[in-house]
Amino acid sequence: MSTLYDADVAPDPREWLALPELERLRLVQNYHVAAKVRGGGMKFHAVSHAIVETQIAQGYGPSKRAIARLQSEGLSRHEALHAIAAVNFQFAGELLQGQTEEQRASFQSRKNQATDALHATRLGGDKVRDTQTEREGTDNHERE
Ligand SMILES: [Zn+2]
Repeated sequence: MSTLYDADVAPDPREWLALPELERLRLVQNYHVAAKVRGGGMKFHAVSHAIVETQIAQGYGPSKRAIARLQSEGLSRHEALHAIAAVNFQFAGELLQGQTEEQRASFQSRKNQATDALHATRLGGDKVRDTQTEREGTDNHERE
């Protein structure tokens, strides 16, 4: 992939995983600048993208299935990435708040389930808006 990243084209898993973390972020950020997706949450947005790409490249089943499923349901790959990033974000919030023993024990399976449950039709209409505009300031609203 050298110096280009396109959210609508899956990066080669081996090339992606071989990149240093910062290089992944730089590529994703450049892509959004070029695609004119803007806003104060750019860093965060790039991070959330890079995490999902890494999950997919590492073969994390729920994310791999979700990206394929959401695209087959009519989303662009980029939109599907955002949808998966939203689930990651939701669960990251739980980690930050501190989990109970019970929450920790079931964390991975609940996260897997939530990712497996993603469908284009459940995301509020037939298109996912750019998560960036939803996430600014008002975290975690608009979940069903
Ligand atoms: Zn994006």
